[in-house]
Amino acid sequence: MAEIPRLPLNSGATIPQVGFGVFKVDPADTQRVVEDALEVGYRHIDTATGYENEAEVGAAIRASGLDREDVFVTTKLRNDHHAAGDAEGAFQRSLDALDLGWIDLYLIHWPVPSADRYVETWRTFETFAEHGRARSIGVSNFLIPHLERLIAEAGTVPAVNQVELHPVFSQPELRRFHAEHGILTEAWGPLGQGKYDLFGMEPVRNAAAAHGVTPAQVVLRWHLQLGNVVIPKSSSRERMAQNLDLTGFELSDEEMAAIDALNEDRRVGGHPEEVS
Ligand code: NAD
Repeated sequence: MAEIPRLPLNSGATIPQVGFGVFKVDPADTQRVVEDALEVGYRHIDTATGYENEAEVGAAIRASGLDREDVFVTTKLRNDHHAAGDAEGAFQRSLDALDLGWIDLYLIHWPVPSADRYVETWRTFETFAEHGRARSIGVSNFLIPHLERLIAEAGTVPAVNQVELHPVFSQPELRRFHAEHGILTEAWGPLGQGKYDLFGMEPVRNAAAAHGVTPAQVVLRWHLQLGNVVIPKSSSRERMAQNLDLTGFELSDEEMAAIDALNEDRRVGGHPEEVS
């Protein structure tokens, strides 16, 4: 089984650089899919209260017989709980649903600027980390001005910002900001959510042919070489295994630059100023 690198977080913990996302995995299928992912070798699962499958993720991890310390679990505060000022209640409900003792990484799912509560919510998150109920805390879908405000008004810098990131939306400016502040970049939709013909793009196809791997592996390898954490999703065991098998080849500087040049600053998902 391929060895997955772990990256340091500013909390002192480490995170496996490749995880498994369960967005849109039906709750009825989630336990089986996550058990498959753990068997294939994933040790990092990314869920959210909004995905409505936290209990099934927890059940799969408990059923796996793996040591709890060996599986990294992320979940996220749902926007309506955030907007209502219910971070404490929502966090406890996630702890109860997962039933794994602690949460490795708890994220504010979206900044919801219309509610103007993310600084207050972040202060509540700091207490989760202080008491070890969440080992690391971070944010998701935050733009640079949101991060600047958090850093200026609160004591703790987020361990990660989990954002939409793939070749046509590769976020170079945000990644630079993260690097300057010790925030790890986590890429959601790392394969573009299948919403454009990423795997048919020439630099991706060429690199796949040159290394004898699939286009998906090329894109995920590009993320790893940029230093991103990735959490691709697939319900097929074969693709799960493929998406974890990324350390047997390396993209050249030219191949990296050709994929970087695909950036069009084009989102395929929602805009953080608008999602509520
Ligand atoms: P993704 O980019 O991982 O794309 C998933 C699609 O790619 C699926 O259709 C899948 O069938 C296909 N695919 C996966 N592996 C493949 C392979 N090897 N070859 C060909 N096709 C392949 O998109 P995603 O699921 O939206 O994102 C991944 C995870 O990110 C989610 O499951 C979730 O955990 C997280 N996420 C977070 C947010 C957020 O707001 N924080 C938003 C969306 C997703």
